[in-house]
Amino acid sequence: MIHEIFPVGPLQCNCSVIGDDTSREAIVIDPGDDIEQVVALIKKHNLQVKQIVITHAHIDHVGGAMKLRAATGAPILLNQNDYALLKMLDVQAAWIGVPTPGKVEVDQNLRHADTINTGSLQAQVLHTPGHTEGSICLYFPAQQKLIAGDTLFAGSIGRTDLPGGSYEKILRSIHDRVLALPNETVVVPGHGPLTTIGEERDNNPFLQK
Ligand SMILES: [Zn+2]
Repeated sequence: MIHEIFPVGPLQCNCSVIGDDTSREAIVIDPGDDIEQVVALIKKHNLQVKQIVITHAHIDHVGGAMKLRAATGAPILLNQNDYALLKMLDVQAAWIGVPTPGKVEVDQNLRHADTINTGSLQAQVLHTPGHTEGSICLYFPAQQKLIAGDTLFAGSIGRTDLPGGSYEKILRSIHDRVLALPNETVVVPGHGPLTTIGEERDNNPFLQK
């Protein structure tokens, strides 16, 4: 599996390009910004993007989605519980002082337990509300890899003080759905360094009993 992770935009959101070595089909997750860089990587690996997956509708994760859709023709996938947040991109742009990316259209709703197939790659959708109502994580069981969005970070969890956030819900999502995964699972958070489920289960201060 090809997997490039690189921080994009002023808030350094971790964008992932995940490709199948054989079919060259790929998923891009959270193209928040710097779409020229995303497109250059796609070309470098000779990939064809089949899905653009958004872990949640915060501007730093979704801001470049329409540009990438225009460049690749791939559909944009987001959980419907974040559609309301997506309509507030101008407000979000004002919060962090960046230009508004304009309107983002969703092509497909991502539901809990949906499977995404890209070439021989398979990913499962985990609906993990808390950071936002429509936050999802994407789990690749064969590769033991989790793209966690802003639900879980190395040593921390997503903030819950923005509209749609709930501290109670994020803890329930992490305990019930994220920590249900094997300890060896590599976690790619929405920001910052990688970690593992085992490391966070044992040492994340927000997850201790
Ligand atoms: Zn966020």
